[in-house]
Amino acid sequence: MIPMVDLKTQYHALKQEIDAAVLEVLENTQFILGPNVNALERETAEYLGSPHAVSCASGTDALHLALRAAGIGPGDEVITTPFTFIATAEAIRYVGATPVFVDIDPSTFNIDVDAIEAAITPRTRCVMPVHLFGQPADMQAIMTLCEAHGIVVIEDCAQSFGASVDGRMTGSIGAYGCFSFFPSKNLGGYGDGGLITATTEEAANALRCLRNHGSHVRYHHDIIGYNSRLDEIQAAILRVKLRHIDRFNNERRRVAHRYNELLAGSGVVTPHEDGKGVHVFHQYTLLTERREQVMQALQKEGIGCAIYYPIPLHRQKAFADVFADVKLPVTEDVTARCLSLPIYPEMSDTQIVSVTDVIRTALG
Ligand SMILES: *Cc1c(COP(=O)(O)O)cnc(C)c1O
Repeated sequence: MIPMVDLKTQYHALKQEIDAAVLEVLENTQFILGPNVNALERETAEYLGSPHAVSCASGTDALHLALRAAGIGPGDEVITTPFTFIATAEAIRYVGATPVFVDIDPSTFNIDVDAIEAAITPRTRCVMPVHLFGQPADMQAIMTLCEAHGIVVIEDCAQSFGASVDGRMTGSIGAYGCFSFFPSKNLGGYGDGGLITATTEEAANALRCLRNHGSHVRYHHDIIGYNSRLDEIQAAILRVKLRHIDRFNNERRRVAHRYNELLAGSGVVTPHEDGKGVHVFHQYTLLTERREQVMQALQKEGIGCAIYYPIPLHRQKAFADVFADVKLPVTEDVTARCLSLPIYPEMSDTQIVSVTDVIRTALG
């Protein structure tokens, strides 16, 4: 049995630290917006090299609050990738704006910068690149393009905590960076959680206000906001895990590179690293013409595998009204052939070899 992710092994390795941190919160009984949330925001801002970090209740909320803080709303177009989790585009709809899906790069699976440029209209207010599977999007080209057009960049960093590009952490480059602490993410809590980085004090204050009922001062409400706070127990757990994040990401890279080595010549297309930064392998996603066959062989041996993502967003029923006739050939081709293998920092070499043996035999 090899699962897609193994959260239990990691918990057992960190049990003493995590249990102590959680018990301290239970003793303090300050559960909302307390010392751990403040410390986590300080520590993540420093780690990411961003002037401000504001935590919130989920990665989806992080995207929603960033769009609100940026003033994106009805009539505005937001260009993003269709090859991502639904939350990226849901957030665009939450604020009443229109998502515009453009095609992806066939080798990195990230948004195609030429396709962004071709889709810009006078209504384009924002571009939301996703650092998919832990590989940074081409931020230098995206920032140059968007700065020239006065377009706000909001990075979806839900899969890229600790990834960097051109020497900068993802989330510290655009006006906002949105992170998820969903348990299976590279930095995962034991429940839902999220975080937004911001480049200006004004934006950070707007985010703090939005996440806490539109309030800066208790019982004084300047705007209609939300209840979207990270709780102290999650913050305490995340502070423990943050101390180990570089090691976790390095271990993920070890697993990915070992997979590459063992799958060379097997007929699958192993993930391409574009060399512009550090890919943190939230997922290890290959391409194969014989996906069904590989999946069946893995499942038969009790090895996890998954299709991220089986239906691109422009083909989802939720967007059928706008995108019925849109064709994005690269996305559709990748969708038909992609397959993600188990990957987590604690994965042993024996486990990696078992996975690749099954794949090689299935394709042999
Ligand atoms: C996980 C994820 C989100 C949403 O995060 P939640 O914390 O689950 O709300 C958004 N975008 C991408 C690309 C994700 O992978």
